[in-house]
Amino acid sequence: MDVKNKVPEKNPCKDMPDDLYETFRKALSDTLAEKSGVLKDIQTQIDDALKKADVKPKKIEVEIFLVTLEEFIKEYAEDVAQDKAKSEADARSKFKDLNAYTYIMDKKTIKIKIFCKRSVIDAVIENDGEQHPLYRLIVHELVHAKLFSTTLSELPQDKFSENLKKEGRNDGTAPEVHPGDHNDQLSREVDRLLDGLLKKLKKEKDEDKQEKDPEKGKQKKEKGKEKEKNKTKGKEKEKDKDKGNEQEQDGEKRKKKHKEKRKEKKRASGKGKGRRKTSGNGRRKKRQEGSEAEER
Ligand SMILES: [Zn+2]
Repeated sequence: MDVKNKVPEKNPCKDMPDDLYETFRKALSDTLAEKSGVLKDIQTQIDDALKKADVKPKKIEVEIFLVTLEEFIKEYAEDVAQDKAKSEADARSKFKDLNAYTYIMDKKTIKIKIFCKRSVIDAVIENDGEQHPLYRLIVHELVHAKLFSTTLSELPQDKFSENLKKEGRNDGTAPEVHPGDHNDQLSREVDRLLDGLLKKLKKEKDEDKQEKDPEKGKQKKEKGKEKEKNKTKGKEKEKDKDKGNEQEQDGEKRKKKHKEKRKEKKRASGKGKGRRKTSGNGRRKKRQEGSEAEER
């Protein structure tokens, strides 16, 4: 799987403050980085599955995007809509119900569309917390891409390992804490990859610290020199910092607001977390075999 990060440098998501957009981009590139181990792990699984069945691997490209509703409506119509008349309504409902959508575009291309919307922005804000919802979202979609990649390599369905088969099902066995995970097998796979990613990131951070520590004195001196050289630059930096803090506070407020909202919704529906599990089951049936498109 050749994964291409198609998320642009310039923020296309008006609702996402620029500093959060940078956080989003960093989380995405950290997840896709070779040293994170996520893609390597996935590739090993694909290779093993194909090798066992004596199927030759194909070159599959996975493209990752962040899209607004308008972009998604347009691209959905071009890429996947079977019923053109219903296309816009389908795209709208996917955008509304999901945080991202992964689909097969042609015989060698898989696309992952992450949506520019409130719940994704919240996932970026909360990614620092214990649940790491943004990392989880990215890894979740990559697990779908793994299954599609295996399908596109023309591994026959009956040659799929039990694990892979199960990952493509919406069978109501997703754990309560992650109702969007479709089934317990996929959820475990996401947990496992996420765990590996977090360990790698932590290790990297610790190593960075160790490297910097003995040089602290030296770095400070150099920083001082730089400041003298370019005082205005320093001021600008401070300004940026202030801006960042403001946005962070905004984020906190939004987070609270969002949580309240969720609580209200839960009270209103009486179902809470189970909501996603049941939505759109009929439409998804076709996708259980991993032949068309998967979603979260
Ligand atoms: Zn999904």
